[in-house]
Amino acid sequence: MTRPIVRVALDTPLRRLFDYLPARDAIHPPQPGVRVRVPFGRQRLVGVVQSLAASSDLPAEKLKQLLEVLDEDPVFDTGVMELLEFAAQYYHHPLGEVMSAALPKLARDGAPARALVERWYATEAGLAALAGEELKRARKQRALLEALRDEPGLPGDALAEKFGDWRTPMRALVARDFTSSAETPLVSTAAEPPLLRGTGPVLSPEQAAAVAAIDGSAERFAPFLLHGITGSGKTEVYLHTVEHALRRARRALVLVPEIGLTPQLVGRFRERFGVTVAVLHSGLTDGERLAAWRECVDGSARIVLGTRSAVFAPVADLGIVIVDEEHDASYKQHESGFRYSARDLAILRAQRAQVPIVLGSATPSLETLQNVVAGKFTRLSLPRRAGQALPPRAAVIDLREHAARAGIATPAVEAMQRHLANDGQVLVYINRRGYSPTLACTACGWIAPCRDCDARLTVHLAAQRLRCHHCGADAPLPKKCPQCGYDVRHVGQGTERVEETLAALFPDMPIARLDRDVVRKRGDLESVVNRVASGEARILVGTQMVTKGHDFPNVTLVVVLNADQGLFSADFRAPERVAQTVVQVAGRAGRGEKPGEVLIQTEYPEHPLLRSLLEEGYDGFARTALEERAAAGWPPFAHVVALRASAMTLESATDFLRAARGLVRAPRGIKLLGPAPAAMARRAGRYHAQLLLEAAERAPLHRALDAWLPLVEAVKTPRDLRWSLDVDPLDLF
Ligand code: ADP
Ligand code: ZN
Repeated sequence: MTRPIVRVALDTPLRRLFDYLPARDAIHPPQPGVRVRVPFGRQRLVGVVQSLAASSDLPAEKLKQLLEVLDEDPVFDTGVMELLEFAAQYYHHPLGEVMSAALPKLARDGAPARALVERWYATEAGLAALAGEELKRARKQRALLEALRDEPGLPGDALAEKFGDWRTPMRALVARDFTSSAETPLVSTAAEPPLLRGTGPVLSPEQAAAVAAIDGSAERFAPFLLHGITGSGKTEVYLHTVEHALRRARRALVLVPEIGLTPQLVGRFRERFGVTVAVLHSGLTDGERLAAWRECVDGSARIVLGTRSAVFAPVADLGIVIVDEEHDASYKQHESGFRYSARDLAILRAQRAQVPIVLGSATPSLETLQNVVAGKFTRLSLPRRAGQALPPRAAVIDLREHAARAGIATPAVEAMQRHLANDGQVLVYINRRGYSPTLACTACGWIAPCRDCDARLTVHLAAQRLRCHHCGADAPLPKKCPQCGYDVRHVGQGTERVEETLAALFPDMPIARLDRDVVRKRGDLESVVNRVASGEARILVGTQMVTKGHDFPNVTLVVVLNADQGLFSADFRAPERVAQTVVQVAGRAGRGEKPGEVLIQTEYPEHPLLRSLLEEGYDGFARTALEERAAAGWPPFAHVVALRASAMTLESATDFLRAARGLVRAPRGIKLLGPAPAAMARRAGRYHAQLLLEAAERAPLHRALDAWLPLVEAVKTPRDLRWSLDVDPLDLF
């Protein structure tokens, strides 16, 4: 009988599979989705079996054998395997790297997919020794052996509990063949926990209607947009639909943007459900991540809740998929390697599994809204809860007309006084951390630049450092101009300076600050949030972080210090981001009994985007923005792919992109833009440039990419050149 060929996806940048032979003595070859260890050059790599084949392009004598089959059962079921293969095709990324992104690090290194326990046994020789005199003086060894005689198969942790340091005497016993151990799968003996631990409030009619609509599509693919401001009860809808899926003996997959920023959500799920909730995110240690992943593999987790890469979690019998804050940019991996959108892949996963998916947001992405307009998604709206305060009143403060003190205009200061006097809390949002974004000389005009980026260094006054927010460069803060020796001054403001100004304006008011300089380790965020939620802090100053789903019922005034950055950006998505941020911060005001007020400081009060946002709210803004996108031929009305390159000189980056551009065959229907330097061309000492491919239809674009990429890969490049492909890029910088 001839042996089948095992086709393996390996974590290498090569866009191909690798053929191996099963071990000679294997009873049957490993199934697709199983991890194997293989020889690869001089290395040994862990890969995943993609398929079995009857023949190979390689001559039989060149084929090597698998070294080891790591799993009895696939770690990726057929559904996840199909998703991974689709992702590799769609994002034009090597399958092996895609699969490796879907595995926790320790699993990638070959750790068993199921938790094992080490159990210990006394051997025949050991038992004989116990009966004799041999161990008379080795008191500890004897005690261990007796314990194993009485209770064969004691696990290591039970031994540790009984004997403290048991490893040393055990080694002596093993050396004499008196004991042996075996690793066996951990079998949970705990009784099935109750489905629910707690109950929620009675649903409002709108919430009940949303749950009913989702339940009505329980056995088929149906995408829903759950559109409601924070606090409108979206999470309660998630909890109910998840409960119903569990009652149908299915499992739930819940994606969230960043768990570190919204620890409450995990808490809400754990409070509500008695069943195991596996939580997967990047803040876990490798061991914790492996443990959570194992709960998915062995099926003990009924709910899997996680960030981006959790979209690949092995969840059998999927019944519902939920993507919270679907507009959040962190769903798109855009920094390195395999650049995928977890939101888009979640939709695909739900489609394959034929189950509903709920995309929740207060500020849906324009892509999702367009899908609603096109009739592909069903919108479920949650208006503000009855009994709640009115929507906040929003107004602009024209910065050209009012004096400002360190960036805070007089009318904003007066409003703060009013709200604080009425026992309200105040939230001040600014999109920059640090003390000031610029350090300048008062005499010669010198400005502290980053040596390696086209950017200025940010002053961090408390730490007495100058830091680059792009490359991480960090230097002492000079007191005098290094060029002429004159005094320096701090120009502009960041959170640190705003906090200082507010402390001077309101000396009796405790102030809390929330930004990445304050939140450095676990628990930091909670402690700031608690200071505000408890009412201890009266004013909160912060960056984007303050927009993330916290519930501060006593905040009645929100001040947006500068909405202008982004209004004039070259990036077509910048206005969408500004609108989302403004709406999300504004949503922090007036969540309790008292009405809220929102003030937006700007130098461009007439800007059409700001106007539509203020006059017609987010929906009005979205309509205007979608019209603009349609007119300009930008997504979602076109499909964009970016080929990015970076090198030690701008010339070599653009030379490469120009060569690549010349290799595009049959560019009919495809618009080529560039190569052009990135908006910030020099970052961390490297020069960045990009070439955009744009097409109205997805299929011809992807066909062109299939033909083009092998040619691009064959382009001879200087050693320092790096390039990458980004399908559906979020940033065009
Ligand atoms: P979102 O996810 O949209 O921010 P939540 O589901 O967290 O909203 O609801 C906000 C708050 O309102 C929570 O404290 C929640 O317990 C409460 N809540 C939600 N739905 C109801 C309801 N039907 N009746 C009473 N309270 C509710
Ligand atoms: Zn820098």
